[in-house]
Amino acid sequence: KMNTDIGQHILKNPGVAQAIVDKADLKQSDIVLEVGPGTGNLTTRILEKAKRVIAVEQDPRMAAELTKRFQSTPAAKRLELTLGDVIKMPQLPYFDVCISNTPYQISSPLTFKLLATSPSPRTCILMFQREFAMRLFAKPGDKLYSRLSVNAQMWAKVDHVMKVGKNNFNPPPQVESNVVRLTPKNPRPQISYDEWDGLLRIAFVRKNRVLRSGFLGTSTVMDMLEANYRTFCAQNDILLDDAPLEEAALEVMDVDDRAEDDAEWDGIMDVDDGDDVPDFFREEAARKAKKFQGNPNRKKKGKVAELVRSKVVKVLEVDTELAEKRARLCDEGDFLKLLYAFNQEGIHFS
Ligand code: SAM
Repeated sequence: KMNTDIGQHILKNPGVAQAIVDKADLKQSDIVLEVGPGTGNLTTRILEKAKRVIAVEQDPRMAAELTKRFQSTPAAKRLELTLGDVIKMPQLPYFDVCISNTPYQISSPLTFKLLATSPSPRTCILMFQREFAMRLFAKPGDKLYSRLSVNAQMWAKVDHVMKVGKNNFNPPPQVESNVVRLTPKNPRPQISYDEWDGLLRIAFVRKNRVLRSGFLGTSTVMDMLEANYRTFCAQNDILLDDAPLEEAALEVMDVDDRAEDDAEWDGIMDVDDGDDVPDFFREEAARKAKKFQGNPNRKKKGKVAELVRSKVVKVLEVDTELAEKRARLCDEGDFLKLLYAFNQEGIHFS
C-alpha cells in the first residue's frame, strides 16, 4: 500500500474503546459527532449512551462496513453517517460532544475546527499522537509551544485523560498515543475567533524571533494588513489619502523589507502546525488585493501602506511595548493586549 495511509489504525482493545466513551460522560440527550468511525468500535459504545451519533467517515469502504454493522439493529436510525472529509465540511452540524480516534494527519485542522465551533460543544474526547497531545499542553517558553497551544488554551480547558500504547491498535502506528479532553470555555471568550487566530498566525510565523520582525519584516503580512485596513476604512466611511509615496520613502521601505526577508525568512519559518503559514499569507494577500483591483486608487507602497506601518510600529513599541518579545515567550494575556491595541488602531486580522 503506497502513500494511501489515511490513518486507519483500528482500536482493537475493547477496554480502551470503552474507557474513551466513558470519559465523555455522555447523557441520554446528547448528539455526538464522531470523526473517523472506521469499523465502529467506538460508535457502537457511543450509541449505547447517547441519543444520536453523527459519524463522518472519508473512506467509502469503512463507511460501507459501518452501515453493514448497524443495518439491522435498533440503533441504525440513531446513526447518521456522512461520507466525506470532515475538514472540508463548511460547517459542522450541531453536536454536544465530539469523540474521535483522530486520523493523525488531520489532528491540527480538526482541533482548530472544533475550537472555532460556535456554539461550543460541551466536551471533546480526542485520541492523538503523543507529541501532538503535548503541544496542546505546552506553555510559553516550552519547545512545543505554538499557535496550536495558545489557541487550545484560549478556547478550552485541556486535560490529559490517558496514555494508549501503540499495540492497542491494528496495525500499530509508529508512535504512542494519548487521549485528551478539550472542554470549551463556557461562555466563549468574547473575541472573534478569526481575528485572534489571524493575529497568532502572524506572531508564530517566526516564533523564535521578536514580534517586530514577524509583523514588519514580511511584506506579505504588511500587504494583508493594508488590505484589511482598506476594508475597515471602506466599511466605516473613513477616507484614505491614497497618494503614492515619495521616491525616497519608497526606497527606504523596500530596502528595509528585503534586508529582513533575506536574513530571516529563509528556512527559519515555523510551519509546525501542519499548515503552510507563509502560503496562507500570500493567498490571503492575493485574494484581498484582487478585491481592490478595480479601484484606481489602489497603489502599492503608497501613503496607506506607510500609515498602516506606522500604526503597527506604534502598537508594538508604544501601546503594548511587546516589539522585542518573542512569540514563543508570549502568553495569552500578551496576545490579547496586542489584539486589543491593534483593533483600537483599526488594524484587523480577518
Ligand atoms: N474510530 C475507529 C477506531 O477507533 O477503531 C477508527 C479510527 S482510525 C484511526 C481513523 C478513521 O478516520 C479511519 O476510518 C479513516 O478512514 C477516517 N478518516 C481519515 N481521514 C478522515 C477525514 N479527513 N474525515 C473523516 N474521516 C477520516
